Amino acid sequence: MVIIMNPEATSHNIDEVIKAIKSVGLEAKIMEGAQQKIVGVIGDKTKLASVAIDALPGVESSVAISKSYKLASREFHPQSSIIDVDGVKIGGDVPVVMAGPCAVESREQLLKAAQIVKEGGAQFLRGGAYKPRTSPYSFQGLEVEGLKYLAEAREATGLKIVTEVTTVEGIAPVAEYADMLQIGARNMQNFGLLKEVGKCNRPVLLKRGLAATIDEWLNAAEYIMNAGNPNVVLCERGIRTYETYTRNTLDMSAVAAVKHLSHLPIIVDPSHGTGKWRMVKPMALAAIAAGADGLMMEMHPNPARALSDGMQSLTPEHYRAVMTAVNKLSKFMHDENLLTLDEG
Ligand code: PEP
Ligand code: MN
Repeated sequence: MVIIMNPEATSHNIDEVIKAIKSVGLEAKIMEGAQQKIVGVIGDKTKLASVAIDALPGVESSVAISKSYKLASREFHPQSSIIDVDGVKIGGDVPVVMAGPCAVESREQLLKAAQIVKEGGAQFLRGGAYKPRTSPYSFQGLEVEGLKYLAEAREATGLKIVTEVTTVEGIAPVAEYADMLQIGARNMQNFGLLKEVGKCNRPVLLKRGLAATIDEWLNAAEYIMNAGNPNVVLCERGIRTYETYTRNTLDMSAVAAVKHLSHLPIIVDPSHGTGKWRMVKPMALAAIAAGADGLMMEMHPNPARALSDGMQSLTPEHYRAVMTAVNKLSKFMHDENLLTLDEG
């Protein structure tokens, strides 16, 4: 439930509302709406039955949240959230790009990739140290050694680091070396893992599950937020459909849907979304045009030699071309004021 205060409500009025909420053992959260303050109620709202909230001074109305997810919903938090990852803001005017190899393969490969990523203008270096592979015989990642190379690449370039965590035991080492924890598609409904990253103080990039509905995805975000971590960024990376030409079907409409349903930022991964490097540029541009807050793209210094996902990895040259096009389009979108989405 959210309690909408009228524009003239005083801070004393708001304090009284919070007191009433807390008196029945619920939690309250104050948010700034477009014109007025909103008090969100967290917990079982039936407990509020004994309190005449709407009768309290300064209260305009109270509205039940219709979705099963609350903290992630735009009803609860009307203003779009900006997630600050150690100074890089995701969800603001400028799209944020995360680029790098599918996997950290060696120190040399990663440092080279990091240099190219930095020069091309992305803000984050990506690269898996723990790889969730379909086959147990495929390269599984360098684990802590890979995390150390990522940290070294951050020192060398100033790029922020985003990398996947696949187990509860992996959270502590990944949080030690990375700026942002990635929950991969295969773990989107690993609720134990979601609850644990919710207790961690690092922002989380939550990729959409292989066959997850938008509702399931936002409920997965709710698990993380409900456990205490409000810093969640969503990543559309394609879903399973009957189409076999592409690796996944990149659901671009999810960007507009999520923008309507949630205040959380959403980025798009056209690499895993298509499985084909040739499709990365058009889908990256489509994502920006749709209002995505950023991109995640795979780039390898030498895709033909990549240990994983070479088919969908950009070469350094293609990466630079994609970045140039993305920057031009996002500047146009900004200058023409095309970014203002209907947030109602
Ligand atoms: C990745 O980004 O490294 C990855 C494995 O992607 P996904 O979880 O979307 O398949
Ligand atoms: Mn990959």
